[in-house]
Formats: sequence, C-alpha cells, structure tokens
Amino acid sequence: MATDPADLLRQRGIQVTAQRLAVLRAVSGQPHITADAVAEAVRVEIGAISLQSVYDALGVLVGEGLIRRIQPAGSPARYEDRVGDNHHHLICRVCGRVVDVDCAVGSAPCLAAADDGGYEIDEAEVAYWGRCPDCLAQSPAGPEGPALRKRIPRAK
Ligand SMILES: [Zn+2]
Ligand SMILES: [Zn+2]
Repeated sequence: MATDPADLLRQRGIQVTAQRLAVLRAVSGQPHITADAVAEAVRVEIGAISLQSVYDALGVLVGEGLIRRIQPAGSPARYEDRVGDNHHHLICRVCGRVVDVDCAVGSAPCLAAADDGGYEIDEAEVAYWGRCPDCLAQSPAGPEGPALRKRIPRAK
C-alpha cells in the first residue's frame, strides 16, 4: 500500500492515534492476522496496549472499510487490508494457514446469487477448506481422510 497510513485515516475522518496506526501497520504487514498477533506486533512497536484497545482500533478500521474481518468457522477472527475486491480464502484444516484466492470467475460474479431472495447483496464470503501443500506433504492423503481431525493435538 503506497498511501501513508496516517493519510488513510485522515481521509476517512478517523482521528490518527499511534495505536490505530500501529494496528493498521500490523494488519498490512501480515494478512489474515489474528487480534492476538496484532496485539503482539503493536506491543513491539509502541509498547503496552490492552487487547481491548486492539479490538477497539480493529473495530474502527473495519467500520471505515480500511480493513476486512473474516471469521472462518472454528478459528479466531482474522484481519486483512485487502478490501473491496470480494476475494475468497483457502483455509487449511490442519495448520489454519489462510491464503487469498480471487473470485471464482471475473470480478465478483458470486455476488449474483442464483436466487437473491430480494436481498441487496454486497458481500459473499467463500471459504475453501482443505489441507495446504505443507500439510499435504507431511501426511499424504490416505483413505482415512475424514479422520484427519484426530491429528489436531487435544488441548489439556
Ligand atoms: Zn496446513
Ligand atoms: Zn484475504
């Protein structure tokens, strides 16, 4: 992103604070970052910040459309600064890695639902679930594919 983050905030009429800038930078630097990871990155940059302040800043930035929040099932919310193109995500069931994938065909055809039920649709969130190449390499798909959830270590 070539634009200065402080300018981005000002353009939207958002008060520029060190915390908001640091949060925005953390999200730009690591797409699909979790709030916990944002807090860690921000602490490195500007020192102590509460998780609540991180959530507050994330909420403001999401509300103004500067970042996008995605929440894959069973995963903490993740944030990214690639907004406005309605792209989708590949999510690994094993390690949780998330990568971007462009809309299935053309610019945003999935916004044209087969039956919109009279809704005015402005977003379609598609998640492709599976195993990432690294996890596939570690355990070649066997006939017992559906049992792969057992591989996730149980929390004690
Ligand atoms: Zn993986
Ligand atoms: Zn993304």
